[in-house]
Amino acid sequence: MGVWHTCLDAQPGEKAVAVTVSSLPKRFVSIGECMVELAQIGAETYRRGFAGDTFNTAWYARRLLPDEWQVGYLSAIGTDAVSGEMRAFMEASGVDTSALREIPDRTVGLYMISTDKGERSFSYWRSQAAARLLAEDERWLDDRLSNAGMVHFSGITLAILSPEHRQRLCNALNLARANGTIVSFDTNLRPRLWESPEAMKAGLLLGASAADIVLPSFDEETELFGDGLPDDTIRRYAEQGAKMVVVKNGEAPLTAYSEETGQFTLTPTPVENVTDTTAAGDSFAAGVLAQLAMGATPEQAAETAMALARRVIQSPGALVPDIFEEGFET
Ligand code: ADP
Repeated sequence: MGVWHTCLDAQPGEKAVAVTVSSLPKRFVSIGECMVELAQIGAETYRRGFAGDTFNTAWYARRLLPDEWQVGYLSAIGTDAVSGEMRAFMEASGVDTSALREIPDRTVGLYMISTDKGERSFSYWRSQAAARLLAEDERWLDDRLSNAGMVHFSGITLAILSPEHRQRLCNALNLARANGTIVSFDTNLRPRLWESPEAMKAGLLLGASAADIVLPSFDEETELFGDGLPDDTIRRYAEQGAKMVVVKNGEAPLTAYSEETGQFTLTPTPVENVTDTTAAGDSFAAGVLAQLAMGATPEQAAETAMALARRVIQSPGALVPDIFEEGFET
């Protein structure tokens, strides 16, 4: 089995993240949109799978966290056959589906990955997806988030919602935080999903203001906010109230900050042959959060997350079950 768990033991003098992990309810909830994935495997043949940034994080978290943790996905699906298949896939993956709302006149979103001479291109059908209504009912959100130890959402989760529903979701997250839940936000910028760059900026700041942990990517932050250094990114999100910010930067060193340990940088071990970078950030998020949930220090959590993401990008597809047979080195 994997060796990731060996880095759980804090070294003398190292501090755990500024959360009382021992008292956290052992319930991890990820919020967002899971889609049907059709990946081309022949001239006219596509293989059906299910994926989506926050679902990928839940899938990895399920494999990283001990069995005593419940890992659930909060979203909305339809009542049609493919929605049922998605729910069955989640359940077969060990992900709890009691926070999947069913909306009768909607279905789930879909994307196709077409491959031409090794080049992949993506087409999306998601504008009417049920997941766009996941934050319709704030009371329902409050109920599903109550007693969660950790909750994760992303910039994509916010982008697919109406401005009013974004606020409802953030209200529910803030209520959960007031009750002790740790909230994590992966900024995951997707300009085409937002109404405008201004709306995206405002949405990211709103999301960060509802989070304890923010996981941005430096290239995206540079493009949107003009950040010159990862310190600029850290400062912006710390000012929104984040207790921990991890600025990922692909193969370049990541820069992280936590309220307790201050700032540190870590350099990923280079990968010679990158196969598919899909879910690098999603698996990274699961690595950080699972480790923190189990009491690791921010450095240990980021080290494990880097090792997991490094392994994920060496295999095709978002979800790589083999990793958990073979293990991965930190
Ligand atoms: P995102 O996918 O969220 O934009 P990144 O591309 O920065 O995030 O990747 C997330 C993490 O995956 C990085 O911090 C790093 O640890 C790992 N990673 C990504 N690309 C590489 C690479 N080429 N070599 C080694 N590690 C990588």
